[in-house]
Amino acid sequence: MTAGLPHTRIQLTFTQGTYPMYRNFKIVPNIIFGRGSFNQLGDVLRSKRPTPDSTMVFVLDDVFVGKELEQRLPLEKGDLLLPVNVDDEPKTSYIDQLVAQIRATSPRLPDGIIGLGGGSAMDIAKAVSLMLTNPGSAADYQGWDLIKNPAVYHVAVPTLAGTGAEISRTTVLTGPEKKLGINSDYTLFDQILLDPELLAGVPKDQWFYTGMDCYIHDVESLEGTYLNEFSRAYGEKSLDLCRQVYLEDHADKDDKLMMASYFGGMSIAYSQVGACHALSYGLSFVLGTHHGIGCCIAFDQLEEIYPQGVREFRAMMARHEIHLPRNLTRDLDDQALETMATVALGLAPLWENCFGANWREVMTRERALDLFRRM
Ligand code: NAD
Ligand code: ZN
Repeated sequence: MTAGLPHTRIQLTFTQGTYPMYRNFKIVPNIIFGRGSFNQLGDVLRSKRPTPDSTMVFVLDDVFVGKELEQRLPLEKGDLLLPVNVDDEPKTSYIDQLVAQIRATSPRLPDGIIGLGGGSAMDIAKAVSLMLTNPGSAADYQGWDLIKNPAVYHVAVPTLAGTGAEISRTTVLTGPEKKLGINSDYTLFDQILLDPELLAGVPKDQWFYTGMDCYIHDVESLEGTYLNEFSRAYGEKSLDLCRQVYLEDHADKDDKLMMASYFGGMSIAYSQVGACHALSYGLSFVLGTHHGIGCCIAFDQLEEIYPQGVREFRAMMARHEIHLPRNLTRDLDDQALETMATVALGLAPLWENCFGANWREVMTRERALDLFRRM
């Protein structure tokens, strides 16, 4: 079994002949930011409904079923409300099932997919919009640039901030053989609507873990060997915003966290994440640990690699009285630990970003196993 890159991050440059080649970086073209901007969603969608019988599908994190957000959705006649469950992080089989469900409701393609929720619901919306126009199973497209046909128009409305899924070119999925994103320019949302009011009501622990995903993106990008001025510019601002959110008191902290997530995603999109994300993927693969909390558990063991970042992270945990689960790996047998190490060490670009080209000498298998044993 193989694991793939957690995020979309491909190494920034490579040499072809004597010329450096740079990635032609596609970004989300339309963005609305502001408190109460959710009220504009209906107007935005209206311009994408070409005929009176146009339909849209609202992919809604089922935590909102029966809640105010569900009542506020700008549904029109023929639209489909599709609640999705994210207790487990998204699987390719779940995407296939949702696509079949949408196809069963109408012989024609919907004109839009709107994903509302955290990283999981946003990733589901991305994957569904891709799989409506590409044949086969979502599992067939886990990898890089395997998608052939443009997706259905798709929109994200985050209700949780930190992953950067709103701006990334990947949708992270667990398939029968691997956990790997569908990475493509078609994956990117056509529109994102960032309304900080929607973050109200996130349970504190979840708010912290997903926010720390962003903080860790910044540290890993800024401390990485792939760093460049593009990534630095976004990473520094995102880090500054995370500090304001988690170490200070601000009435507009939700606004700040939403922008931190966006900027953090922009930073890693043109550099790479590092050791913490690689290790968290091992945890997630073997134990099913969710992304945000898995990153926190791994980061807490990485003081020797990111000393300042880990110290600050612990200060943030203390300030918000967060208690990380411990001893996750205590009862694992050697084979399970070996699998964790294999998954983590398979993520070569992340380690190369962290330590440079000779990373294999620095992060030996024994060292990775030792880190996992401490988690
Ligand atoms: P999540 O989407 O998995 O949600 C975590 C929990 O919070 C869920 O129970 C959800 O129902 C709940 N929730 C969401 N919004 C809420 C709100 N406003 N109020 C109350 N509860 C709310 O968490 P996440 O950390 O945002 O996303 C993690 C997922 O994102 C993972 O599947 C991970 O693989 C993926 N991810 C994707 C990318 C990418 O670039 N595509 C990057 C990082 C992570
Ligand atoms: Zn992450």
